[in-house]
Amino acid sequence: MKSHARVVVIGGGVVGVSTLYHVTKKGWSDVVLLERTELTAGSTWHAAGLLPLFNMSYTVGQLHKYSVDLYKRLPAETGQDVSFHVTGNLRLATCRDRMDEYRKYCGTANTIGVPFQLISPAEVKELWPLVNLGGDADTPAVIGALYHPDDGHIAPADLTMALRKAARAAGAEINEQTEVSGAVQLPNGEWKLTTSKGEITAEHVVLCTGNYARQTGRMFGLNMPAIPVEHQYIVYDESPELKAYRQSGGRELAVLREPDESYYFREERMGWILGPYEAGAPARFADGVPSWFGKDLFPGELERLLPHVEAAQRRVPGLERCGIKDIVNGPIAYTPDGSPLVGPAWGKRNLWINEGHSFGITAAGGAGWQLAEWIVEGEPGIDMLAVDPRRFGAYTSKRYLVAKNEEAYRDVFTIHYPDEERQDARPAKTSPVYDRLKRMGAVFGQRYGWERANWFAPDGVEPKDEWSFRRSNYFEHVGNECRRLREKVGVIDLTPFTKFEVTGPGAEGWLDNLVANKVPTRIGRIALCHALTKRGGIRSEFTITKLADHHYYVVSAGAAERYDSDFLQKHLPTDGSVTLRNITGSRGVFVLAGPRARDVMTKITDAPLDNASFPWLTGQVIEAGLATDVYALRVNFVGALGWELHFPIEYAHGLFDAIFAAGAEYGIGMAGMRAMESLRMEKSYRMWGSDLTRDNTPLEGGLARFVRMDKGPFTGRGALEQQQKNGVPLSFVTLEVHGVTDADPLGNEPIFAPDGRLVGRATSGYYGHCLRKSLAIGYVKPEFAAVGTELSVEVLGERKRATVLVDSPYDPQNTDLRA
Ligand SMILES: Cc1cc2nc3c(=O)[nH]c(=O)nc-3n(C[C@H](O)[C@H](O)[C@H](O)COP(=O)(O)OP(=O)(O)OC[C@H]3O[C@@H](n4cnc5c(N)ncnc54)[C@H](O)[C@@H]3O)c2cc1C
Repeated sequence: MKSHARVVVIGGGVVGVSTLYHVTKKGWSDVVLLERTELTAGSTWHAAGLLPLFNMSYTVGQLHKYSVDLYKRLPAETGQDVSFHVTGNLRLATCRDRMDEYRKYCGTANTIGVPFQLISPAEVKELWPLVNLGGDADTPAVIGALYHPDDGHIAPADLTMALRKAARAAGAEINEQTEVSGAVQLPNGEWKLTTSKGEITAEHVVLCTGNYARQTGRMFGLNMPAIPVEHQYIVYDESPELKAYRQSGGRELAVLREPDESYYFREERMGWILGPYEAGAPARFADGVPSWFGKDLFPGELERLLPHVEAAQRRVPGLERCGIKDIVNGPIAYTPDGSPLVGPAWGKRNLWINEGHSFGITAAGGAGWQLAEWIVEGEPGIDMLAVDPRRFGAYTSKRYLVAKNEEAYRDVFTIHYPDEERQDARPAKTSPVYDRLKRMGAVFGQRYGWERANWFAPDGVEPKDEWSFRRSNYFEHVGNECRRLREKVGVIDLTPFTKFEVTGPGAEGWLDNLVANKVPTRIGRIALCHALTKRGGIRSEFTITKLADHHYYVVSAGAAERYDSDFLQKHLPTDGSVTLRNITGSRGVFVLAGPRARDVMTKITDAPLDNASFPWLTGQVIEAGLATDVYALRVNFVGALGWELHFPIEYAHGLFDAIFAAGAEYGIGMAGMRAMESLRMEKSYRMWGSDLTRDNTPLEGGLARFVRMDKGPFTGRGALEQQQKNGVPLSFVTLEVHGVTDADPLGNEPIFAPDGRLVGRATSGYYGHCLRKSLAIGYVKPEFAAVGTELSVEVLGERKRATVLVDSPYDPQNTDLRA
């Protein structure tokens, strides 16, 4: 074994070997893989090998598409067959909401370029003659299906071997029977690993240890949010029906999924494999894999599988006459949201994570591709936020993970509504006024562990969501909250915001280097600033206020706490000139907004609030109610006169009560996240994470006013200069979508030119309750961005006429904000 390598990959499952392969593809050959026993010995050897292209996530969808394309090329590239059966894959629907889910998915598939068809029951029967279309008391009727002709199933071990062969041919060294048992980071940033075959030092280490992620994490000082769950499939004996069908010339049947009964089904040597995602499957190895568990399986739990077996028997008559040959019950890595962890490790340099894969055979290609790009180029090629390990934070306690991972497993096949809020492990983190909000009818959702009020049920209305792809039970109430903010005054609790304090003589210069805008130099000024990637994409968004000399208050999205904290910490100068403190937990935030906001504020503070004393886009440290040291920032995300009050958390109850007492005469009330979504859409405000990602530059995002090319150097500047010279490839638009009666765009919709060409993608959408327009915002080719341009947006599978509006269709002059 080498004693030094540029990259060491730990773990020889399909994910580790794919990472190794892709690093060599990027031209690095000084790379080593260490596997404790033998390649594929983890979960890879017993996987069912399905490669579903279906995924609602724009990012994961791209990773899966890359994998499927790669796996088709691999045999020619390596000379190793991978047994890729391109059977296609059929997802049945037995209810309208399921069809809506497929229709919503069509938007994602179209923007990624994944071929698919929505087909009728008759076409299902044609493709899959052995299916029972149902419609009787026992078996629900198939009302349609989503068909992917291009995917199927593969032999996971053969796939791993093909990747191994190509990686070795490119110079990679693979060491089996080599367990990593210790890791220390050297002062030069390299990692020294202790293994059963001696020591090895590496510039970069990549963790691909599957079910071992918990103990690997511990070795590197990380609480890894990945814990496996039991997953089983049944292998059946020969099926006479299938045999007869195949012998009469029938082609291999598509992989069949009946999500409404939570199972997959495919051919296996004239018999079947049936794999349910059942309720009650337990998390395993929360503290790590015990030493006695090698290339092992758990005993089969047929009882748990029975409801799904019975459903499959009704759907595929004849199955009940097939004997069960085997039950495979293995650990399958999970994370709280079911997506893998792919990207840099937080708080550690030169350490990379490719863990938590529950669809690892499908994702291995894409995850290896992007991670290799990240390691070698310093940036991934596509926006990876949906799988970035830093999307989770310190709140992922063991109990949280166990509950959430079991839930994510159980919910693989449930309908994933756009307004879905999963219920387990809640409440985890709450704002101090949580109970008050609850009494006011709050219907909560959860983000980054925080409970956030999505909307408020008025008296007499049940505080409960009815999730849907269409307008639902809360539509009218959210509309009322929006109107209250536009016409009177309202409060939004944004306590989860991520908050940093940056102090020290180097603070200004350091921050200024990190972002494209000019950091405020005058005390009290606020600037919206974006940290860019080398390619000019938007990495982070910060609202930066200069509170005093050498003292900045930096706010970013609540879900970006670890992501931004890691970024800032890793860029901190080592000379002690800057101090960075994460103060997220010590300040609460109430947004007080609406035309009467000043009237309310006047009653709770003596600070002068007129425009001359407290103009828009400035902040002051004030007293409010009984609270002192309140950072009052005259900005908000809804486009109204108002203040964000960032207060020491211990004042939360008193301040909240004071605001409501003062606001009673003006009709004050709460508003939730959904109202904020509607209001920000009316103002064309871009949301970090969906509208603003690495995929687009601020010039494409129409944010040139937040970029100062006339200041000193900043990351991404070169890329922006190139765009200025060569032309900005995309433009940001706000669209009114016409003819919508009950299903608004919600993001991830393709945008088409009148001649039917795909010319853009909506990144968000919502109903603008005050404008009474269905709105979408997103990116189009520049020639389609002029106000008044007619386009169409595909909403739930239907192309709707759309017109480009002015940026900020509500109050484009910002008169409300300046009032
Ligand atoms: C029953 C079942 C069916 C499945 N079916 C499918 C399917 O149809 N499609 C699909 O996409 N996915 C499927 N999966 C999931 C799939 O198996 C996994 O996502 C995938 O195998 C994960 O690959 P991996 O490389 O991340 O992990 P693993 O294959 O588990 O590999 C991790 C490797 O790391 C090694 N290792 C751990 N610690 C160390 C250490 N300290 N030093 C050195 N080496 C170490 C282990 O020995 C192991 O070989 C299924 C899973 C199960 C359980």
